[in-house]
Amino acid sequence: MASRKRPIAWSIAGSDSGGGAGIQADLATFHDFGVHGCTVISAITAQNSFAVGHVSVTPRRTLAAQINALDSDLQADVIKLGMLASEDVVVMVGKYLETFSGFVVCDPVMVSTSGGELMPRGVCDVLIDKILPRADLITPNLSEAETLLNRTIESLEDVERAAADIVALGARSVMLTGGHLSARNDERHDYWTDGEEGFWLSGANIYTLNTHGTGCTLSSAIAAAVARGYGLPDAMVIAKAYVSQGLRMSVRLGSGPGPVGHIG
Ligand code: PLP
Repeated sequence: MASRKRPIAWSIAGSDSGGGAGIQADLATFHDFGVHGCTVISAITAQNSFAVGHVSVTPRRTLAAQINALDSDLQADVIKLGMLASEDVVVMVGKYLETFSGFVVCDPVMVSTSGGELMPRGVCDVLIDKILPRADLITPNLSEAETLLNRTIESLEDVERAAADIVALGARSVMLTGGHLSARNDERHDYWTDGEEGFWLSGANIYTLNTHGTGCTLSSAIAAAVARGYGLPDAMVIAKAYVSQGLRMSVRLGSGPGPVGHIG
């Protein structure tokens, strides 16, 4: 048997033609962590730095062919899920995950920062039903958490309750990100829980408009760190430091918000 020193991570996600988010951000992140990235492209988006212009969902056969090609040769140590743009895609990916025993990180991508819809609203319930029970970690931002729970989140205490409720929906654990609910504008707070234990990851706000792809990069970095052998709490801390550095290094490239930076 061939010996394998480099872990393999799959990204099942959408392509961002602008190169800042989606599959493109995931591969750049995996590369920085020394992890080999394989891709199952679930949708092709035509987008630039200020708008998502067009979304083409991958046909069932093409999605299945990508999964089968990888499954028969380049098995994943971890799988990161990003944009799952239709009920069909969610159901097929959910079915595959029933056969997969490695670590699964789900970034429940719904709407881009530029306002483009990346997952139709009705698909959320299918995601809860088919994907959450197989997610070791789900990484919603505040608005994604609000959509998952169908209610608003208005305080840091609410964040703790919401995170516990998302675990109750079926995920093994949740990292609820982007908590800008603190009374202090210069702090950011993310909260993790598995329903029994919980902790806050807090840090200084990094002021930049160039945040495109932050959620994709964070979830990929966690997946890659887990693939490298770190336990989940360490993987989240490492990923947060990686994204923070990416935000500090980010530059504006087009006329809209620039992409979060990568190292390699
Ligand atoms: N496009 C694709 C294909 C994505 O997967 C994502 C991920 O969230 C986005 C766009 C959104 O990026 P952002 O909200 O960071 O601009």
